[in-house]
Amino acid sequence: MTSHDLRFSDYENIVFFTGAGMSAESGVPTYRGAGGIWKEYNYEEYACQAAFDRDPEHVWEFHNYRRKLVGACPPNPGHRVIAELEKHRAVTVVTQNIDGIHQLAGSTTVHELHGGLWRLRCDHCGNRDTRRDAPLEDVHCGACHHYWRPDIVWFGDSLDREVFDQVIKAMETCDLMVAVGTSAVVHPAAQLPIVAKAGHARCVEINPEATPLSDIYDVCVRKPASEALTEMAQGLL
Ligand code: NAD
Ligand code: ZN
Repeated sequence: MTSHDLRFSDYENIVFFTGAGMSAESGVPTYRGAGGIWKEYNYEEYACQAAFDRDPEHVWEFHNYRRKLVGACPPNPGHRVIAELEKHRAVTVVTQNIDGIHQLAGSTTVHELHGGLWRLRCDHCGNRDTRRDAPLEDVHCGACHHYWRPDIVWFGDSLDREVFDQVIKAMETCDLMVAVGTSAVVHPAAQLPIVAKAGHARCVEINPEATPLSDIYDVCVRKPASEALTEMAQGLL
């Protein structure tokens, strides 16, 4: 079976499980592979709680660099297909990305497993905000003036339990699960496709390259995200 035979129109309840490859065609660097940002930056210095506690300005400098980079990246046709599909089918997006591009494209049910680059939280007073300023000029909480913390699941943080429970439920109850652009090596997110499979969903992988999880999928589409998603939407969009 190819992406030409596989149509969204044949399914009712679709979950998209997306990773960095989903946003590659928008110009956001992936984690692994050519141009990955982690090669230029030592993450331990910038993306963990210990670094933030030690030197919040330094951590904010890195996150403002990411805000500027990602803020200039528009949704690609793949993001738009997923958003448009909501008009015709029940669609849930489960993303490991922090870039907020699914929401920008118009998707309304988006579970951000690893938090969001635009989300701010104050661990001192509990205040929260969402701001797309790139860069964020004032990195202090408006209520108590302590530093905002980017609401991102950093290295060493645990996932939000509530979000994870909702995601498990979505995986268990969908009839089609499409993993797009994830290398399936970051846990526990990488186990989620197995939950969908156990729940009897048809499981599809869209990725130009094979991944350690490729064997569990019913169909692997070795094409870039936007091309594969556009083909699967034929007859519906
Ligand atoms: P990853 O970087 O480990 O893997 C990216 C995958 O995408 C690879 O398997 C690659 O073959 C595939 N890919 C590349 N171009 C593609 C395209 N055009 N279409 C489809 N697939 C394509 O990404 P990951 O599995 O998401 O894990 C990285 C972690 O880093 C995640 O936890 C994520 O939160 C974070 N991250 C997020 C962003 C973002 O928000 N956009 C970017 C980089 C990393
Ligand atoms: Zn505060």
